[in-house]
Amino acid sequence: DSKNNKPRSQLMEKLNEWYQNLLSHNQTAMSYLHERGIYESSIEKFGLGYAPKSHETINYLQSQQFNMREAIEFGVVGHDQERRQTFARFIERITFPIHSANGSIVGFGGRTITGHSAKYVNSPETKYFNKSRLLYAYNVAKQAIYKKAEIIITEGYLDVIMLHQAGFDNAVATLGTALTNEHLPLLRKGTPRVIMAYDGDKAGRAAALKASKLLSAAGFNGGVVVFEGGLDPADMVKEGRVNELSNIFHAPKPFIEFVLDELLSLYDLKDPKAKESCMAEGVSYLKTLSPILQEEYKTYLASRLGGLGVSPSLVKITNQTNSSQKELVQKNTHR
Ligand code: ATP
Ligand code: MN
Ligand code: MN
Ligand code: MN
Repeated sequence: DSKNNKPRSQLMEKLNEWYQNLLSHNQTAMSYLHERGIYESSIEKFGLGYAPKSHETINYLQSQQFNMREAIEFGVVGHDQERRQTFARFIERITFPIHSANGSIVGFGGRTITGHSAKYVNSPETKYFNKSRLLYAYNVAKQAIYKKAEIIITEGYLDVIMLHQAGFDNAVATLGTALTNEHLPLLRKGTPRVIMAYDGDKAGRAAALKASKLLSAAGFNGGVVVFEGGLDPADMVKEGRVNELSNIFHAPKPFIEFVLDELLSLYDLKDPKAKESCMAEGVSYLKTLSPILQEEYKTYLASRLGGLGVSPSLVKITNQTNSSQKELVQKNTHR
């Protein structure tokens, strides 16, 4: 498997330096970042840059003797078959370099500052860049993750940067994809507890639910935090709600409780049939957990299903733990 190998070429590093330099000379881009609340020191720390018009990037790469095939291989240049033209992938965007575990730049994220309909563009999958294995800013956050034995996982580049500014320097982000079982090896390093801090909107909650199923089945400690009003962590920092954030991060809802509570909220429990379905779904989730946790949360599920005589003994679990665990992990592989 050649993915996440260390590239031999300096193309990405050189291009990033060039983007960084362009940013520092671009008033519009600098004031955009300023308005978002991003400090100069963060621009430096995260290596932010600015990608100009397409032909400028193409010209730059050519002037540096990089060949176009290589640039296409890295995903920073695309090729339009019909028009027989090459074009830059990142055009008039703030750029966020993405590093592999061994420290080389393997991709970019780009945020429009011209109101382009695609708010973000990310590098495509390449032989160096596998987004279901990498976490944005892991290289920057690594030490804090080990020291605090905790990792905060967000959805976005801006969330990471704003959290670091507020002192939460153990924050990383998934790269516009769900958390998958391919992320787990990286997450296990230093055995941190995991805090899922996705956006408080519907999509963020649904993604947090999937992640919680995966993480609880894989035996991770930690939990989920939910931001009211559909906010994301960057919004919270921007609004100056850092103390609140700190309290929230100190009391995440444990993964298993989050999964069961979300599940319970999906059913009308006054309807006996719905209650039955809810119990079935709850039980099939509990089967993905260790036997001790199954016992523990059987009681929890029964009490939440509540009211008229749902005792823990009614929550029947046959022991197929291993096969259910496997099944869950498989499902997550192929999403
Ligand atoms: P901002 O605060 O800059 O408006 P955000 O980070 O809050 O953006 P969201 O819309 O919440 O953006 O998306 C979260 C993350 O999902 C982004 O940081 C990006 O990685 C990814 N993403 C969002 N929109 C797109 C898109 N159109 N294409 C690819 N990835 C995207
Ligand atoms: Mn969102
Ligand atoms: Mn967001
Ligand atoms: Mn945001």
